[in-house]
Amino acid sequence: MLEELVGIGPKTIKLLNKLNIYSKEDLISYYPYRFEVIERTNIKLLKQDDRVVIDGAIEQLPTIFYFNKRFNRMNFILNTGDNLYKIVIFNRAFLKPKLNISTKVTIIGKYDMKNNTIVASDIKLYPLPPYPVIEPIYHVCNGISSKEINKLILNNIDKFDINEYIPDYLVERYKLDNKKDSIINVHNPKNKNDLKRALNYLKYEELFLFMMKMNYLKSIRTDTNGLKRNIDKKIVLDFIDTLPFKLTEDQLKGVNDIYNDLTSSKRMNRLLQGDVGSGKTIVAFISLYINYLSGYQGALMAPTEILAMQHYNNLLNLYKDTDIKVELLTGKMKISEKKNIYKRLINNEIDILIGTHALFSDDVVYNNLGLVITDEQHRFGVNQRTSLKNKGITPDILYLSATPIPRTYALTIYGDMDVSSIHTRPNGRKEVITLLKTNKEIKDVLDLIYQELKKKHQIYVIAPLIEDSENSDMENVYELKEKMDKAFSKICKTDILHGKMTSKEKDEVMEKYKNNEISILISTTVIEVGVDVGNATVMVIFDSFRFGLSQLHQLRGRVGRNNLQSYCVLISDKEAERLNVLTATSDGFKVSEEDFKLRGSGDLFGTRQSGDMSFKLADIKNDFNILLRAKEDSQEVLTSKEYVNNKKYFNLKKVLENSMKLS
Ligand code: ADP
Ligand code: MG
Repeated sequence: MLEELVGIGPKTIKLLNKLNIYSKEDLISYYPYRFEVIERTNIKLLKQDDRVVIDGAIEQLPTIFYFNKRFNRMNFILNTGDNLYKIVIFNRAFLKPKLNISTKVTIIGKYDMKNNTIVASDIKLYPLPPYPVIEPIYHVCNGISSKEINKLILNNIDKFDINEYIPDYLVERYKLDNKKDSIINVHNPKNKNDLKRALNYLKYEELFLFMMKMNYLKSIRTDTNGLKRNIDKKIVLDFIDTLPFKLTEDQLKGVNDIYNDLTSSKRMNRLLQGDVGSGKTIVAFISLYINYLSGYQGALMAPTEILAMQHYNNLLNLYKDTDIKVELLTGKMKISEKKNIYKRLINNEIDILIGTHALFSDDVVYNNLGLVITDEQHRFGVNQRTSLKNKGITPDILYLSATPIPRTYALTIYGDMDVSSIHTRPNGRKEVITLLKTNKEIKDVLDLIYQELKKKHQIYVIAPLIEDSENSDMENVYELKEKMDKAFSKICKTDILHGKMTSKEKDEVMEKYKNNEISILISTTVIEVGVDVGNATVMVIFDSFRFGLSQLHQLRGRVGRNNLQSYCVLISDKEAERLNVLTATSDGFKVSEEDFKLRGSGDLFGTRQSGDMSFKLADIKNDFNILLRAKEDSQEVLTSKEYVNNKKYFNLKKVLENSMKLS
């Protein structure tokens, strides 16, 4: 129980629940998703826009500018002993009382050499030790900081039960540390070597358990436990005829695969993969229709509320001439509304339920669930997938993924799934023109934006940051907003969107953007997932080199969503060769192959935003060798006699039994 821990009251528990932390074990395995190595830089060796970490004393008291209630900027002068620098930091007005003349601070930020300025992302008020400090950074939500999470864990470190899952002989084989040390070192790394050893253990454990589950599920999925269905194909084809467009060949093939799965005695466990905009949604909707025809309820789970809502509205529209009852269920609905849905669901008064992972919370009981569709499957991660409890009967499962995965990887990760792929895009859509520009060429970019604004089209501007905790490079979003306002405030409205806003704030901004009340949306990668605004024709991504190719490709997919000519502008002063893969091709499968070949910062599963990870620590590209080993080891364990009989495997078996609830 979380209550047993020091420093945790009901308020903190609520916040932790938001991060999917419900038990002590969840908390201790809430690993940092990255580590910040804070090492002093020698500013004399730095170039424009380099990262800087520097000590100094406050020379002149801060001044603050307030823009609106969400947004302020503080300026002050720092004396480093050698020189004076102007410091700019956004949204830290609350620090002002602590910043007095001569206060010693460490500044972390970006060096704007031309203006003798440091745009700070963080100010450390306590003197950091002179040697490199490794700071674990956790995913957070509003109300709790990365540091607070770290403290909760470290202050309670002796109160956690530490369950070991890796069989002793494997720990021996790979000369791994023990689990307790690994856990302590990952939350409190003293040096790079300790951290590396800790990550070795924990990554291997994560991948080993994942492979154990995969192999286990495969071993119990038999060919005869599917649902009995009786479906008149003609009705399906007639329905397809009523669609406002003709399905592409790949879409038809996908529908056919799914129809065959659903009507066979085998349980469906299928992945439908295809590029952003390739038209997976309609295939999913047709599948729900087929499922409905055979008398079962269907559920469609989306990764965000915005997407769930979008699907809901589209589906209502598609089914408007039928009497199929579709409902929406999201976490933020009122309790009474939810209860009403629960009641009607169990009474079979709802045919299709759309929502976020609220669809599978404990209160939700289906009458006869026949099909579960998970959109942008990779974003739910293995953990959520395994917590997807089986509600009554054993439904067929369809996963949608917009991350085309090279075949070798797909076979390894999705070893127990069948795959349908959509390669071609629907006709009538113009290819997005992709341009690579340097920061010097920014004028060209502003010109292009201006031309499109004149046509009343909309613009996305992506700030180059990996969304994270309080120490994020959040200034980028605000900095860019200032820049855009400077250029365009006379002719249009701009606004910002980032992960630290509440979901209500986010929805409001998104709604305004959809309604074209905002012309330029400056955002972090939170907009990456599935959002559909047809009138947006320009996607500008600053410092593109910071992103993986697959992720850039996903962002590019936010424009070019109808017949308007659209543009994607990658701004970067580095890594032109890698980025040119995108100017050369718009085929997501090719992009992801390249992403794997070039070992860039690319991450197959997109940025690791909270709740978006498939794995907590492992990265299937960089840790692919560990994955392969884990795969072999798990097969070895599952088929060994010892495993079946030995008590030592209790923890491991329990994990597997839990994962069965999913299937
Ligand atoms: P994704 O695969 O990214 O989920 P969507 O399903 O959202 O893509 O499809 C993108 C857009 O293309 C939607 O507006 C959809 O209505 C449209 N679309 C899908 N299939 C076709 C088709 N066969 N012909 C024309 N437009 C289509
Ligand atoms: Mg989609």
